[in-house]
Parts: sequence; C-alpha cells; structure tokens
Amino acid sequence: MFSARALRLGAVFRTRISALHTSVRRSHRLDVAAPLLRTQSYINGRWSSAAAVFPVLDPATGQELARVSDCGPGEAKRAVDAAYEAFQSWKQHTAKERSLLLRKWFNLMIQHKDDLAKIITFESGKPMSESLGEISYSSSFLEWFSEEARRVYGDIVPSPLKDRKMLLLKQPVGVASIITPWNFPSAMITRKVGAALAAGCTVVIKPAEDTPLSALALAELAEQAGLPAGVVNVVPCSRQNTPSVGHVLCTDPLVSKISFTGSTATGKLLLKMAADTVKRASMELGGHAPFIVFDSADLDRAVRGAMGSKFRNSGQTCVCSNRILVQSGVYEEFLQRVGVAMDQELKLGHGIEPTTTQGPLINDRAAKKVALQIADAVSLGARLLRGGSQLAGSFVEPTLLADVTTDMLCTREETFGPVMPVLRFDTEEEAVAIANATNVGLAGYFFSRDVSQIWRVAEALEVGMVGVNEGLLSAPEGLFGGVKQSGLGREGSKYGIDEYLHVKYVCFGGLQP
Ligand code: NAD
Repeated sequence: MFSARALRLGAVFRTRISALHTSVRRSHRLDVAAPLLRTQSYINGRWSSAAAVFPVLDPATGQELARVSDCGPGEAKRAVDAAYEAFQSWKQHTAKERSLLLRKWFNLMIQHKDDLAKIITFESGKPMSESLGEISYSSSFLEWFSEEARRVYGDIVPSPLKDRKMLLLKQPVGVASIITPWNFPSAMITRKVGAALAAGCTVVIKPAEDTPLSALALAELAEQAGLPAGVVNVVPCSRQNTPSVGHVLCTDPLVSKISFTGSTATGKLLLKMAADTVKRASMELGGHAPFIVFDSADLDRAVRGAMGSKFRNSGQTCVCSNRILVQSGVYEEFLQRVGVAMDQELKLGHGIEPTTTQGPLINDRAAKKVALQIADAVSLGARLLRGGSQLAGSFVEPTLLADVTTDMLCTREETFGPVMPVLRFDTEEEAVAIANATNVGLAGYFFSRDVSQIWRVAEALEVGMVGVNEGLLSAPEGLFGGVKQSGLGREGSKYGIDEYLHVKYVCFGGLQP
C-alpha cells in the first residue's frame, strides 16, 4: 500500500521515535504545591465534594492523576443560583475595583506559572514549553481585561429634540455559563472569564472532563485574589454527567449568556438548548485552516510557519493549519524542507521531559481518528513521506502526506492531530477556491511576497482570522473568532468585552431647553 520510499523513511523515523518513546514509560509524577491541586467543586466561595468522583488521567501514561468531584445537575443549579446572587453586588462594584481584582488574579497566575504549567502538561499531555506559553497567554487575558474593564464607555447621542438627552448605557448581561475544551484548559477559561468579570458578569465554569484540574487551580487563585464568593464557580463533571450539567447551564432562566469553546457539533446542541430562553451566545467552534504557500513566498519563513502552526500541541488546536496548499513552483522543495525540519525538530515524549516537543493526543479515540485519516489518504493515493502510525497509548507519529486531494477525509474534516497533508495547486484562484470549500472558517494562513496578492487573498479567504506570512497569530490585543460554522462572537481585543454587555437606550426627556 505504501511506496518503497515512504516505507523506508517511515522506518527510519519509527526507530527514532521508539527510542524516544521509552522515556514516556518512566514514571512521572504531578508534583505541585498542594493548594493548587484542587479536586472538589467550587461553588459560592466554598470547596465541596460531590457524591461521586471521576478520574483524571495523564494521557501520556494512562496513570491516574486525581479523582475529581463529579458534579450533577444539583450542583450546577446551586452554582447558577450562587452566581445570580453574587451578580447583584458584583455589578455594583466600580470598574476600577473589578480591574484591581482581575489584576491580582493575573499576578497570582504569574507567581504560580510553573505549577500551573505542570498541571496543564500532566492533564492534557502538552510539552512544558507550550504549557508555560499557555499560562503566559492565559494570564494575559486577565491582564488585558483588567485594563479593558475601565474603558467600557457608553454614548451620548445628539438628540433630534431640544427637551431630550439620549444616552446609550452599557450594562453587564448577568450570569454567564462558560463551557470549555481540553486543548487549552487554562486559556479558554480566562479568555471568557476575564471579559465577563470585567464587564460585571458572574460565571459558572464547566471545564472539559479530561482537564478539570487547571480550572480548579484557577478558581483557587481567584479565591486567593479576593474575588467575592459566587463570582467565579466551577462545576467539574464526568463525560456521563456532562449532558445533565450542560442542560442546567444552557436552560436555567437565571443564566443570561452561554459562552462555549469546543466542537461545532456540541456548539449546535448548546445553541438549540439556549434558544428556549433566548440567551445570548458566544460560540468558538471547530476550524479547518488552509495554509497556502505561493511561489513568491519566502520558503524558509513558510516552513517555519507550517511547523509552528501544524505541530503545536501535537496538532490539537482549532487554528492549526489543516490543509497545506503549495503552488507547483515550490511544491517539491517545500516538501523536502518540511521533512528535514520534522526530522530535526520534532521529538515525542512525556511533556514534562525538557526535550519533548510532541506529546500524546488527548486520548485513544482522538489517536484512532487521526490514524483513520492517514490510512484513508494513503489508500486514495497520498504519498506518505514521514510517520504514519499510531504508537503506544495515544501517541501518533508526526506525519507528512504529499499529493493529497480534496476527496480525502483529511481535507474534508478537522484532523486535530500531527498530520500535515500537502496539496498541489497551480493558480491563486484554485487555491482560494479549495481554501473556501468548507462550511467552517476560523483561521487561514498564506505566504506570499506579492503585495497585490496579499490584499486579494486576505480579503478573499472566508475566515475570521488571517495570518499573512505568520503561522501563529493569537494575542489578547488581536481578536479571536470565526465565520460560517466556526462560531458566533469574538474573544480578546477591545471587542471581547461586548459579548458580556447589553446596550441600554435611556431617553431622558422633559428638559427645559
Ligand atoms: P467538545 O465539543 O467535545 O467539548 C467541549 C466542551 O463541551 C467540553 O467541556 C465538553 O464536556 C462539553 N460538552 C460536550 N457535550 C456537552 C453537552 N451536551 N452539554 C454541555 N457541555 C457539553 O470539544 P473538544 O473535543 O473538547 O475540543 C475540541 C474542539 O474544540 C475542536 O473542534 C476545536 O476546533 C474546538 N476548539 C475551538 C476553539 C475556538 O476558539 N474556536 C478553541 C479550542 C478548541
């Protein structure tokens, strides 16, 4: 089924990987300062146990890290009630008071960054360097929104009548349900909660079942920062309890807003539930990012961009490049250079090992889905240039596929794994058409030194975020969000706080001109 060359390359690569893989089996322990390793729910300023617990596993070894309280609908309802109660006073805090508390929370995150990063590495499998990067990114949203809290301005609108003044006031929407994924267990929380709290909202957080420890550590630091009881609540739960907890968070009349990051399929389900009580909704959903390399590109830069955007978090980010389109003139050279970069830079192992760049996928199901996409592509004629296999546990070899076509699964659905599928194209129109031929539109990247082409393609890509000669684009100052079925609303930037605010029109009449 595989070409002789592909098999040869795969064998060389596999030998290196299995040697590295032995380090994963060494026993690694999650060793962090005790108060940060919380396992109970955090509701109304109190830590409490639920009737049952669920295990949190290290995806690199399968070892149990902790047993966490398995909240049900009862705990979710208590958390919503507590958040509603706390909202009545939190919204009365001045913007400056809220700002100072967010800043304290940010400072504590920085103070504990090493332990917070270790928690991410152990529960999500991410290498430590990336976990430290996530803590820096995650905390930056508390810092950013501590500053934005003081810049929520309304408007005074010129009135058409002399006896009236017309004001547009911004007010917090109320209780926000925050439902987050495992791939950025800290940052997906602060990107929402920073904005919500700055606006004057209170929150109930339901973290992903695979990664509740990061959420609980954040709650511990929120408490230490002095956030009042009920302002931040966390209800961890197992996969089994997720639908019933999710139902409360999306339907309770005391909840005004849901903010979700995760798959498009789950997002649609939550939107339907929220429709009955007409809640505000922000949806950060799946992506299928095109990454286009034009003949005019700086190829070194494009290869660096592709490596960063594809293999970060072992390919498990919503903005990971998913379809690499390379123009005919530089096609073979790009493949050759990427292959060399993969050999030189990628190292599998447990994320806590300082040399590891590629951790495991989050679980066996995820690894199997990726292996299936690889097998499908190869069976339909793709050339396997590197990797190609699922290894022990949920590790997948970083994989390079050439001559990929648009009928293959990897070009039709999000991969969420370390697979780089490369397609050849001839014209700009062809590349843009392939890039846009999907029902999602989160991020897109392209590399070109032709200024006119840069403007044309940046405008033509049907995505919410474009990287021009850049493979990594997230920052709190820039916005985050997609078009089409990648979601609704925006996070970060000066727009992120608007998701948690109503604009109220006050018509102030009866004035003597
Ligand atoms: P997922 O949709 O399976 O789960 C996300 C969250 O939703 C988890 O907390 C999960 O427990 C919860 N959930 C699932 N069913 C639920 C229900 N019935 N009620 C309430 N909550 C429910 O997604 P995932 O596998 O954890 O994350 C990967 C997906 O997230 C990918 O598609 C990725 O593209 C997307 N993602 C998007 C962004 C973005 O900003 N757009 C960022 C990161 C990840």
